[in-house]
Amino acid sequence: MKFYPFITLSLRTVVAFSALAGSAFSLVWLEQRQAAAPLPSQRRWNETSPLVVVDAGHGGHDGGAVANGVIEKNMSLDIAKRVMKELEAAGVRVVMTRSGDRFLSLDERAALAGEHGADAFVSVHLNTEGEGNEAEGIETYFAESRALSARQLVPGGDGRGQRAGGSAEFASRVQRLVCDATGAENRGVKARDYAVVARAACPAVLVECGFITSASEVVRLKEAGYRDKVADGIARGVVLFLQTQSAQAPVVAAVLKADGGSRGR
Ligand SMILES: [Zn+2]
Repeated sequence: MKFYPFITLSLRTVVAFSALAGSAFSLVWLEQRQAAAPLPSQRRWNETSPLVVVDAGHGGHDGGAVANGVIEKNMSLDIAKRVMKELEAAGVRVVMTRSGDRFLSLDERAALAGEHGADAFVSVHLNTEGEGNEAEGIETYFAESRALSARQLVPGGDGRGQRAGGSAEFASRVQRLVCDATGAENRGVKARDYAVVARAACPAVLVECGFITSASEVVRLKEAGYRDKVADGIARGVVLFLQTQSAQAPVVAAVLKADGGSRGR
């Protein structure tokens, strides 16, 4: 909002300048000012916008899985960045665990959720199967033991247990929307205590976005347009979850409404 007075002042300056020195130069100057203006999504941000940590699996010396010319750490980062763009377009603040080819421990990744007071944590990975196995499709994991222990810590519940337990609901929403967006085989939601989701201090899921060992699925995953669909589905699942969970839901809902749901599948 603080940009508008500045732009108004600039326009006045331009008009005054035009009157004195002609309009050609000032029009160029005005165009440059507009080009430098922040993106609409960034203008929507404020301290009440929900914050999501997006984790690109592996990185640095940890390449993750390798198959069919794909190194997991590179593709997970590519998809994570697309998820970031989609979330930011929906008015959600995003913290990436890594934005380049960098190694972080699972604890370092999970800790970012607590440090930033995140509302949700989503980790992006690619799946593999042994040779001769043509498994394909998408599956989403959450950490059941974490949800259970949180409930035990807070008998009767004061919201903390519910918050931790929200991971199962989070996983089911992401799983459904990412399968809707991609048309990929739905391998379902699974409970497993992966450290990165078990240790995050907010609802957390890990999405296995497809099998790079599958001859057919890896072809799709290599297409940027398909990775956009994966990212779009993940982001929609995150936003839908935030809408149902958070007191900040009206912010997200309003932003989504303003967007008109125009982004395709
Ligand atoms: Zn992985």
